[in-house]
Amino acid sequence: MAQYDYDLFVIGAGSGGVRAARLAAMAGAKVGVAESYRVGGTCVIRGCVPKKFMVYASEFAREFELAAGYGWTVGEAHFDWRAFLANKDKEIARISGIYTRNLNNAGVDLILGSASFVDPHTLELTERGKTHTVTAAKILIATGGRPKLPDVPGIEHVITSNEAFNLPRLPKRMVIVGGGYIAVEFACIFHGLGVDVTLIYRGANILRGFDEDVRSHLVDEMNKRGLKVLLSCSHERIEMRPDGVLVSHFGEGLPVEADVVMFATGREPNVEGLGLDKAGVKLNDQGAVAVDDYSRTNVEHIWAVGDVTDRLALTPVAIREAAAFAQTVFYDRPTRFDHGNVPTAVFSQPPIGAVGLTEAEARHQYKQIDIYLTRFRPMRLAFVADDERILMKLVVDRASGRVLGCHIVGHDGPEMIQLAAIAVKAGLTKAQWDDTCALHPTAAEELVTLREPYRPQELVAAE
Ligand code: FAD
Repeated sequence: MAQYDYDLFVIGAGSGGVRAARLAAMAGAKVGVAESYRVGGTCVIRGCVPKKFMVYASEFAREFELAAGYGWTVGEAHFDWRAFLANKDKEIARISGIYTRNLNNAGVDLILGSASFVDPHTLELTERGKTHTVTAAKILIATGGRPKLPDVPGIEHVITSNEAFNLPRLPKRMVIVGGGYIAVEFACIFHGLGVDVTLIYRGANILRGFDEDVRSHLVDEMNKRGLKVLLSCSHERIEMRPDGVLVSHFGEGLPVEADVVMFATGREPNVEGLGLDKAGVKLNDQGAVAVDDYSRTNVEHIWAVGDVTDRLALTPVAIREAAAFAQTVFYDRPTRFDHGNVPTAVFSQPPIGAVGLTEAEARHQYKQIDIYLTRFRPMRLAFVADDERILMKLVVDRASGRVLGCHIVGHDGPEMIQLAAIAVKAGLTKAQWDDTCALHPTAAEELVTLREPYRPQELVAAE
């Protein structure tokens, strides 16, 4: 008789957990997975997927403007939030169903309940109020992350991204707090849907970690579209008035009123209640499960992948870490996921696509850097009277000619960056990029026709 109930038990059926469970089962392992909320995890249920639907929904207002320039007469536009929610929820349920079916087809036991450690090989599962235990030879922690709220008076009145996907009605005024991609994306989404949005961030500029030119370009473009961005501003308290209006008070400056206040001020690994101490699993200084390059924890038979390890909190990264784990442990092919040159996007309006080093990082790591940068008016906006510009920037190591980073702010930037990432990851040189014939007329052709290194005016003046 087998010593354990399962060869592998996975905690969390999100991006990482589902991939690992399926691959292990396909290798012949007996696999169980527990999911405490809904199969599909953050990405499918309250992350990337519903967010992208909201981005699409919110972009139409701008498209209608462009359409008029092209000669279209579009009737009075009206957005029905509840109709959108119904369609969005139907699609999310469909995708979650596919995930469930895939697990079933691979022969994985799915337990809809929460799991916590009793000892290093035993998990307690709580399903609809009933508990039982299972044992497993190997365990994978793939419990993801969750929104983290600061300790500010009145914080009980605010929502997080979790609730933003299902607001009962579209507010008239909204305050969104945070400078990361989630705050920025939701600010653009709700602004596009006609909400009067104020984005508030305590730092000097939004999107820390992105290239400086990208950060300032996006703020300019958001301002041009009428989105209010208040920087270097942090909440002292949030007051709920008797009429239900929420008033944000800051140390200085005027208070801001809103119907909804959303905080997107960071996320934390989902480790609470997991009983990691009972298994002896250690956390790192950031409170994430500490793992090595193979996603193994300090306990020999326990691994962790995805947001709970706080390496790079992105869906494809969780999936690749999970696949590397399965290859290593169940296919006898030791595999590490390389976290370098992972492309990222911010689905702001206009959106950002970025891969590789920022200019600041490159200047820190390399002796001499050449910057190629262009700001231009996209052709598709020829017939509208505004001043939107696309930004494209290449960061190049002068000695080797390698393109170390590529940064785009503008329509289709994320689509372009997925392909540019192949070249950056492959270590291609600027000369090789230039060798590639342009595809005309596109915005992307600018990436292979940037001839002269960029020299900011102030540098030219100083010479
Ligand atoms: P998750 O997908 O979060 O799955 C963890 C699962 O574990 C959850 O379903 C949870 O319910 C379950 N769980 C937790 N504890 C237990 C327990 N004790 N027992 C049983 N089950 C448990 N990434 C991108 O790449 N692109 C994007 O555009 C993007 N947009 C995002 C937008 C938002 C608003 C958010 C919040 C995230 C976004 N992300 C995006 C990040 C992406 O969603 C995560 O990186 C990804 O889902 C991580 O996968 P995971 O498997 O680590 O965890």
